Amino acid sequence: MPSQTKTEQALSAHTPMMQQYLGLKAEHPDILLFYRMGDFYELFFDDAKRASALLDISLTKRGQSAGTPIPMAGVPYHAVEGYLARLVQLGESVAICEQIGDPATSKGPVERKVVRIVTPGTVTDEALLNERQDNLLCAIAQLRGQYGLAQLDISSGRFLLNQVDNSDDLAALLQRLNPAELLYPEDFTDLNLVEKRKGARRRPMWEFEQATAKRLLCQQFATKDLLSFGVEDAPVALMAAGCVMQYVKDTQRAALPHIRAIALERSQDNIVLDAATRRNLELTQNLAGNYEHTLAAVLDRSQTAMGSRLLKRWIHAPLRDQAQVNARLDAVAELDSHYDTLQPLLKQIGDIERVIARLALRSARPRDFARLRQALQQLPQLTPQLGLLQSSLLQQISRSAAPLPDLCQLLERAIVDTPPVLIRDGGVIAPGYDAELDQWRALSQGATDYLEQLELRERERTGIASLKVGFNRVHGYYIETGRSADTKVPPEYVRRQTLKNNERYIIPELKEYEDKVLGSQSKALALEKQLYEQLFDLTAPHLAMLQQLAQALAELDVLCNFSERADSLNYSRPQLSATTGIELEQGRHPVVEQVLSEPFIANPLSLTSNRRMLMITGPNMGGKSTYMRQTALIVLMAYIGCFVPADKAIIGPVDRIFTRIGASDDLASGRSTFMVEMTETATILHHATEHSLVLMDEIGRGTSTFDGLSLAWACADYLASKIKALTLFATHYFELTELAEQLPNLANVHLDAVEHGDDIVFMHHVQEGAASKSFGLQVAQLAGVPKAVIKHARHKLSELEQHSNSAAAKPAPVAAQPQLSLLDAEHPVVAQLRDINPDDLSARQALELLYKLKQEL
Ligand code: ADP
Repeated sequence: MPSQTKTEQALSAHTPMMQQYLGLKAEHPDILLFYRMGDFYELFFDDAKRASALLDISLTKRGQSAGTPIPMAGVPYHAVEGYLARLVQLGESVAICEQIGDPATSKGPVERKVVRIVTPGTVTDEALLNERQDNLLCAIAQLRGQYGLAQLDISSGRFLLNQVDNSDDLAALLQRLNPAELLYPEDFTDLNLVEKRKGARRRPMWEFEQATAKRLLCQQFATKDLLSFGVEDAPVALMAAGCVMQYVKDTQRAALPHIRAIALERSQDNIVLDAATRRNLELTQNLAGNYEHTLAAVLDRSQTAMGSRLLKRWIHAPLRDQAQVNARLDAVAELDSHYDTLQPLLKQIGDIERVIARLALRSARPRDFARLRQALQQLPQLTPQLGLLQSSLLQQISRSAAPLPDLCQLLERAIVDTPPVLIRDGGVIAPGYDAELDQWRALSQGATDYLEQLELRERERTGIASLKVGFNRVHGYYIETGRSADTKVPPEYVRRQTLKNNERYIIPELKEYEDKVLGSQSKALALEKQLYEQLFDLTAPHLAMLQQLAQALAELDVLCNFSERADSLNYSRPQLSATTGIELEQGRHPVVEQVLSEPFIANPLSLTSNRRMLMITGPNMGGKSTYMRQTALIVLMAYIGCFVPADKAIIGPVDRIFTRIGASDDLASGRSTFMVEMTETATILHHATEHSLVLMDEIGRGTSTFDGLSLAWACADYLASKIKALTLFATHYFELTELAEQLPNLANVHLDAVEHGDDIVFMHHVQEGAASKSFGLQVAQLAGVPKAVIKHARHKLSELEQHSNSAAAKPAPVAAQPQLSLLDAEHPVVAQLRDINPDDLSARQALELLYKLKQEL
């Protein structure tokens, strides 16, 4: 093959070390290769350039390649974790190549091998992970209009599948899961879903082969088929799962005993939240992409990081099954009088989920064992507390959280109290655990005693007062004397090293001792490493129990957390009802009420089977969006099993929550605000059902007044009369309030404001009926529009209002077309038209002006 000859040519032009490097690099062409050289990991050629740019490290040169210097960059080995963390954050993968051979005995370059591959979706090192956030590896596949997704959380072993029939649902899934790494097949067509995504990687088609996928999965779970997992109905998702399995095997190069099952997530089990809704409701990320002021930020006081991660999963997956939700609510209610004893215990237990995964992958550090031991030591204290609990969910948790005394004792015996970070230098295995280790250690530690005695003895024997016994790495043990003592040195002293002012000697006795000590030290260390490895084998049989334990404790943590939040934030238990509707008394916005410095005004809400839509009017800044979002958040909180910020909440079945809120240009994909708005609206009109909760905020803003009004009118009508969804519809088009007269299941409510001279005070109170006034000018004034402009506008407004009063008492149908002769330059109507700025007019003003102009014609 020509490419081979080219490589060979290239290789022959290099030093043996570079040849070794290029050989290893060829096995990992797409990812950075960290090549260990002494105390550094070096990168060469394009890798060096990329790493230098990504990590802001200096780019140097080394040797020559075909006459030009080879670009090189390096990071010190002791600081490698920090650099890896940054690369993984950036979505990069790294192959770590270590020196395997002994430099002293190697001819040519030391033998080297890629020992691990660090990729964003498969990392388990504590230092590389955000502890309160899931880190997922996902793969997607596509076949005949179906989309499959597989997600693996390698640091818990959770392996889940989803299969959906359109790319919007896949987009929503990806947004919810926010995978650290996303694998997709070469022939994937919806490239907008994967391109520009951090950590997206194209994989060869064969990795998605269905038969291979099934074989790999059966192998992993040691089963004949996948029937018992209930995933056979999701063939496209299985293709993705096959790719995930292949990828973790390639990168981990270790058995994965903690991945023991796979399950299908069915969309009908959860309240569906599309991508826009998750974003708009600011569940775990605010609109600016940060964590503060999100629902999670308010709700999360979990004691363990595993609890925090579970809580976020719950927030993103509200349940539809009311029985399951009630089980959680029962538990939360019961924990009200227990959480303050349970939470400190949970804090002591900490994040064992990830520790357990590292145990399974045999990558656990000494401190992981100590942390697991610490957790297991808490369990006997937890047991009597859990024994007091009655609700079915808590009893179930209690059963999974039974103590594991054997494992606990093993770890108590095996590991020292505070082990060092690494096993490398030993000192991890506790004394008394292994008799042989104790012996070797005693021998190697006897050193100081013996040497002191030797020093005293020799000093006396030779009469050299400056005589000292010492040790260095190169020469080993020695006896040192000052130069001036030369004459007193006995003949059996053999010179080892001459320094400026001292001479160093060795005697056979000391040499013999040296051999024994050095031998016993390395023997102790080797044995210690062996015992450490053995600990993985000894814990392996407990893995399944440990995983169950971690899951139960994480759940207990979230439930206790809900209980504490309910207490601290004055939430109450929602009532789930089989009847359609949402009834709230004194509902509050969980996030806004925490952020505001003034008191939050609580508001009622009533949607029932014959009052399905509320048309919400009121001034800008009056609180319309807050009111709508709080309703959606209260519903969502109820269905994750959390108490809610309301005095009373009765909530019927909800299948999906939709939002069309706020204006954001999706410039990245080339869509204008209006286009985004209409795309979201289309999604809602296509997918909403009579059990959906729909929030529509200010639709029709992004286009001309008449277009916008007509669209808003038609959408409201469709939602209320055709779909009959539970809808909150906020609008600045007062004309829409007339719909209430036509549609029996639609009611008007408004947020009121009070005028104070030229000023305005927003009351944030929701009242029945339509708003009477738009307060646009007052809001403009508040916003700092210059006084002169406001004055002019006020003048214009009263002029317009006078005219409109004399014009038409009742507006004509919205769709009526104006028939002005605008071409007549002399006509006074034209002069007036020149004067106005359409952007300054509200919909109503524009409409009124139009009537006036028409009449003047
Ligand atoms: P709108 O959608 O009508 O323009 P918002 O819902 O955005 O108004 O509310 C504007 C601001 O008013 C919010 O940022 C919040 O500070 C305050 N606000 C809204 N509702 C309330 C309330 N019920 N109680 C107290 N302050 C509120």
